[in-house]
Amino acid sequence: MTGEKTRGIIAGGGLVGLTLALALNRKGIPVKVFESVREIKPLGVGINLLPHSVQNLAKLGLLEEIEKVAIKTSSLAYYSEDGKIIWREARGLDAGYDVPQFSIHRGDFHMILLNAAIDRLGPENIISGHHLSSFDQNDDSVTAHFVDRHSGASCGQFTAEFLVGADGINSTLRQIFYPDEGPPKYSGQMLWRGVTEMDPFLDGRSMFMAGHNDLKLVAYPIRAESARRGKSYINWIAERRIPSDLA
Ligand SMILES: Cc1cc2nc3c(=O)[nH]c(=O)nc-3n(C[C@H](O)[C@H](O)[C@H](O)COP(=O)(O)OP(=O)(O)OC[C@H]3O[C@@H](n4cnc5c(N)ncnc54)[C@H](O)[C@@H]3O)c2cc1C
Repeated sequence: MTGEKTRGIIAGGGLVGLTLALALNRKGIPVKVFESVREIKPLGVGINLLPHSVQNLAKLGLLEEIEKVAIKTSSLAYYSEDGKIIWREARGLDAGYDVPQFSIHRGDFHMILLNAAIDRLGPENIISGHHLSSFDQNDDSVTAHFVDRHSGASCGQFTAEFLVGADGINSTLRQIFYPDEGPPKYSGQMLWRGVTEMDPFLDGRSMFMAGHNDLKLVAYPIRAESARRGKSYINWIAERRIPSDLA
């Protein structure tokens, strides 16, 4: 790999790494994305894209693809634990924004980003099975070193002008910069998450939260395909405060 002409290295082909790659590509800055897993798969459950981020995704020309698969969220409603409405407010286009708020399956969104990145940057610039392990730098360049995450065997190095760590919550790059920081801290909240297809609730485009900080249920529909069949593909989250010694 060494010696190829690329200006930037992005470590991590998740939501942030691929979005950044598309944004730099739009500015004419050639980058390579190195992703740790061998095969990037559509994993996860629901995620919400708020208008300020959708605005940027629209600039990347991704709005049409997202609209095909996601739900345009119309409102967020809060309920007490016994189901009494406390507050409901409009969201996205219904709240007057120029672009929607989307509730979407993380895997659907990830695949939209991945397909766009492969298409625009070329498949040779989206490299899986490369886990960033370390880097070294001088005044002009940075060299990133990669290993196979499973075997630990080296799979080479790559030199460019800059390196960006988009390697998620257990970022290797962050551990290198802040070695004494330790692992992420437990928030005290345990979440159980899943998806269920069922009949729509409210207007079929709303998100609700019921309960309080110690015990909460959150639910929202995330797939347009399901809505087109008169159903709702519901992302649900059961959340409970659990002390760290019991978690
Ligand atoms: C499998 C998975 C499922 C998720 N599901 C949900 C969900 O359902 N709902 C939700 O709200 N959020 C979910 N998240 C979290 C969400 O994607 C992120 O919190 C958020 O979007 C920030 O994106 P990110 O790109 O920083 O991190 P991530 O999306 O976590 O992406 C980081 C990427 O970096 C890769 N990576 C890690 N270490 C290295 C390394 N050393 N070298 C190279 N690559 C590396 C990881 O394999 C991953 O692909 C999930 C994350 C993952 C990884």
